[in-house]
Amino acid sequence: MKAGPPHVAMLATPGMGHLIPLAELAKRLAARRGATATLITFASAASATQRAFLASLPPSVAARALPPVDLSDLPRDAAIETLMTAECARSLPAIAAVLAELGETARLVAFVVDQFGMEAFNAAGVRAARCLFMPMNLHALSLVLHLPELAASVPGEFRDLAEPVRLPGCVPIPGPDIISPLQDRSNPSYAVMVNLAVRCREAAAAILVNSFDAVEPEAAEALRHPAEPGWPPVYPVGPLILQSESGGTGADVDGTPPRAACLEWLDRQPARSVVYVSFGSGGALPKEQMHELALGLERSGQRFLWVVRSPSDDEGTLNGNYYDAESKKDPFAYLPEGFVGRTKEVGLLVPSWAPQTQVLAHGATGGFLTHCGWNSTLESLVHGVPMVAWPLFAEQRLNAVMLSEGAGAAIRLPETKDKESIAAVVRELVEGEGKGAMVRAKVAQLQKAAAEGLREGGAATTALDEVMDKWEAEAN
Ligand code: UDP
Repeated sequence: MKAGPPHVAMLATPGMGHLIPLAELAKRLAARRGATATLITFASAASATQRAFLASLPPSVAARALPPVDLSDLPRDAAIETLMTAECARSLPAIAAVLAELGETARLVAFVVDQFGMEAFNAAGVRAARCLFMPMNLHALSLVLHLPELAASVPGEFRDLAEPVRLPGCVPIPGPDIISPLQDRSNPSYAVMVNLAVRCREAAAAILVNSFDAVEPEAAEALRHPAEPGWPPVYPVGPLILQSESGGTGADVDGTPPRAACLEWLDRQPARSVVYVSFGSGGALPKEQMHELALGLERSGQRFLWVVRSPSDDEGTLNGNYYDAESKKDPFAYLPEGFVGRTKEVGLLVPSWAPQTQVLAHGATGGFLTHCGWNSTLESLVHGVPMVAWPLFAEQRLNAVMLSEGAGAAIRLPETKDKESIAAVVRELVEGEGKGAMVRAKVAQLQKAAAEGLREGGAATTALDEVMDKWEAEAN
């Protein structure tokens, strides 16, 4: 057995939403046990944003980029899930080589992959504990774990179901809100997801989940007592969110200089008055909805800070956006005539990317209109910011159901996202005395619970210690 600190290899499939929480997990492992880690990334995700983020990591976390693989035979419109899984499968020899090298040079105790990286469990010669890291929540994990039965028992498409899908401990999920790659059985992404679900039940030694009990208590309880013996043990180790190295004033993932202009602008706004609007690292709206959103924000009379991307119907494929957060065109050119001038006293527009965690941590931020990406959601909860849910794709609709119907941390916009409903919901969130007040109070409670879990002796810290004890015991 090699001496030295335990080392963990981590494979991050493309998307900052996978990379950021894995890097945070690596930092927490280092802080608790002096563990070191290597983050392995795919060539297709090598954007400027990702490079800057990897360069900002502490010395305990190394980065290794895999060589490019040819994916040109896949259809142009292949789903993200299909692309990621294929890239992973075709990178197995390179992954095996990195793992072999790490096994030679370090005391490798675990190989942690996210949900689209599970093909890598097949890489030759993996001797460390194989663990799945879910950058999603416990509701999404529950859906994945029950997917093989659901796939067999649900006739037709999920979106056509008359009754919601009921999973142990979970808020009932209406069929159309089931995750997007499962909405069309004829799309290869459906089979990809079902295969991953089978693989996850069979091959993972443990599942680490970026969530915490207080936000979905019944789901956490149900997964502690799994439906079948032999399912991997589940450890909620969250919330793991991006922490700025110098307490919120240092460079962010895009290498923004110490104090971004939008933070200076926030400094000049009243406490809890600004609604931050962002659709994650890959989300963009179609032109029509972008227009309604602009007019809805204007009509709400609230202050806003909006990260504007060029519209999805003009930006090429969604996947293009997902792999690289930068808009290819000038996003402001798509805003309604006169909007910028009319709102300049109350609104700030930022193209493509903002230092989100610093925005959410700022005292002037009073609400978050979000696509309900799970990292964004956790960042909002950690900073006590109530949400308006505007889900787009992936598991975001499921998150919106859980947040609005279960946790009570968000108000969900109605399907018809017209300017009137957007204005009404945004206003209610910031200053409403009904639903808005309830959501604001619930989020304050969840903020406290999240912090408690991460303290010494807290639930997330204890779960992480248990996992590390297990890794050490198995490695010895
Ligand atoms: N993010 C950011 N600035 C932006 C947009 C996104 O820093 O302008 C970060 C955000 O803080 C979060 C991640 O990118 O950590 C997005 O992850 P999420 O799971 O919310 O959504 P996804 O990008 O996977 O759809």
